[in-house]
Amino acid sequence: MIRKFLCLFLAGMVALSVFSLPNPVFAGTEPQLICKDPVAGNYSITFSWEQVPGAAGYIIYNCNTAGETVSKLTAFPADCLSYRAEGLQPGKRYDFRMCSFEGTEISPENQKFSPLFSSVPLGLSKPRRLKAKAKSWQSIKLTWEKQEGAVGYIVYRWSKKKNKYIKIADIKGMEKTSYTNTKLSRKTKYTYRIKAYTSSGNKTFYSSTSEKASAKTLKSYKGISLSKPVSKVRCVSKYGPRWGRFHKGMDFGRPYGAAIYAAKSGKVTRARQSWGGYGKCVEIASSQGVKTRYAHCSRLLVRVGQKVKAGQKIAKIGSSGDARSPHLHFEVILKGKFVDPGLFY
Ligand SMILES: [Zn+2]
Repeated sequence: MIRKFLCLFLAGMVALSVFSLPNPVFAGTEPQLICKDPVAGNYSITFSWEQVPGAAGYIIYNCNTAGETVSKLTAFPADCLSYRAEGLQPGKRYDFRMCSFEGTEISPENQKFSPLFSSVPLGLSKPRRLKAKAKSWQSIKLTWEKQEGAVGYIVYRWSKKKNKYIKIADIKGMEKTSYTNTKLSRKTKYTYRIKAYTSSGNKTFYSSTSEKASAKTLKSYKGISLSKPVSKVRCVSKYGPRWGRFHKGMDFGRPYGAAIYAAKSGKVTRARQSWGGYGKCVEIASSQGVKTRYAHCSRLLVRVGQKVKAGQKIAKIGSSGDARSPHLHFEVILKGKFVDPGLFY
């Protein structure tokens, strides 16, 4: 019981002074304690060693860089053969020496020392691949790569008014790699950065800040917002009069086979393999009296009656029907009338 308590109590920190000890003598002492290579972790170092027959316990000394002065120590009972020192400073070299001792009284005569060994704790590196993408006229979604060892992330947003980044969210959870910022203004650019954090030995450690990522919220028309039907909105032909006829949609140039996404959540009302000049075409009916059409596809990925979410992949770019090169012909019908899709982008 006392031993267990000692082990638990002492395994708290390196900088714990337990006994008042005479300065151990290293010179000429035969090292009999075999320490395995310490393993550096995030803000920690894990030690393990081999049992010394007849030893009453072990002590880890924190040495100076020369390995001469013993400043701090942690002690363990005989059945304790590993220890994790936590809350250490990343990038800093820590030097240690261990000893085993016999009997109850710790004196230089009954201590057997290991050679000096050192380790450098790791820290959290800054989060990578932060990306910002507009989800609607009032929201932007951030995504990033999972940072090994992180238990959470802090999200910062640039404030023009305050001329600095301000903290807007604390995302707890090591599996979290996304955040949606809501209640934003329409057609406004926002810039973000994030920091990863972890905890070790009751302390919280933060990484340096990530590269910045920006996105602009979408436009809205009569309170309606549409997300992008293709990943890159590159208009190759506008809505309006064209070649003596009226072009009822907008053409987005994309490579053959590229994904087409639903611009608004709704229900598929048409998924036709051949529909005159449209070729392969999908039509989605959404709330607010909105219908969207996606024409000239090479492949349809949805069927009539299916419910789809905004941003869901529904078809692939092609040149079916009346099209000369691969592109998406995109139409927006509002309460039965064709409107310019350019109002939404
Ligand atoms: Zn067109």
